[in-house]
Amino acid sequence: MKDPNGAVLCIDIGGTSTKAGIFEPWGELKPLGSIPSRGPAASFAGALETLMTEAAAAADGPVIRLGVAVAGFLDEARDRMIYNSNLPWLEDFPLRARLAQHFDGPIELEVDSNAAALAEYYRGSGQGSSRFLCLTVGTGLGVGMIVHGHPLRFAYGCMGDPGHVIVQPNGPLCTCGGHGCAEILVSAPRLAEEYRRAKGIAEECSLRDVIEAARGGDKAAIPVLEHAGEWLGIATASLANTFYPDRIAFAGGLAEAGDLVMHSVERAFDYAAGTFTKKNVQLERARLGALSTLTGAAYAVLTNRED
Ligand SMILES: [Zn+2]
Repeated sequence: MKDPNGAVLCIDIGGTSTKAGIFEPWGELKPLGSIPSRGPAASFAGALETLMTEAAAAADGPVIRLGVAVAGFLDEARDRMIYNSNLPWLEDFPLRARLAQHFDGPIELEVDSNAAALAEYYRGSGQGSSRFLCLTVGTGLGVGMIVHGHPLRFAYGCMGDPGHVIVQPNGPLCTCGGHGCAEILVSAPRLAEEYRRAKGIAEECSLRDVIEAARGGDKAAIPVLEHAGEWLGIATASLANTFYPDRIAFAGGLAEAGDLVMHSVERAFDYAAGTFTKKNVQLERARLGALSTLTGAAYAVLTNRED
């Protein structure tokens, strides 16, 4: 890895909000505020530049690199995001060129699932792994793989979109337009909705509410999490049988539920995965929590394009 010699400005452009932070040369991340991810692109870029200026001012020393994690597919040069059904207004916007007008120094754009995987690889559960698969389960199901220290890329800046592996024949309509994808079956809004319907409650609730209820022994919340764990375990078995990782980590809001989800993930994985696959892989919980993608934005600009 390059010697940073200065701080990295990190940005995480997610489906609903965009976070900023400073990654100090000694390896600490300071989260420094956020803005809504809201179009049109030109006004978003203006708000982002203000956020960047404020974040850079909070650094202790010079800020010499900019790493940007983006939810969505990137073009081949990794200059712009080209597809995300949640952020259509940002598609094809020349993001890197626009940011270069405002920031003088190396800039890297990285797919958010790769960024989360990079952060876990360098700082968390992926350390020492040769083929590290990282699943981030939140609003969507992001999957990134780090092979010998490098993100696996063969389509749109990433390994494609394995969160949309089909796990249920005749399953529900997914945001991608397909049916029965793992992503739609484990997504946070869907699980919250399932719980709300099971309880017959009128007000909105979140995945966090479901997890809290399950921890308190709520008989409606526990099966919602267990079923999600099963779908996730089946999806993970398919990915493991295909890519042969030596380690798999689970990050994101659903993984925060801990054993309430992970026991059924492990059970379903153990049932569905092949014998050779199982013998040669370790399943773990991610260690970096909610800031993994923002941390990974820093590693994207510190490590990418060395080869
Ligand atoms: Zn899908």
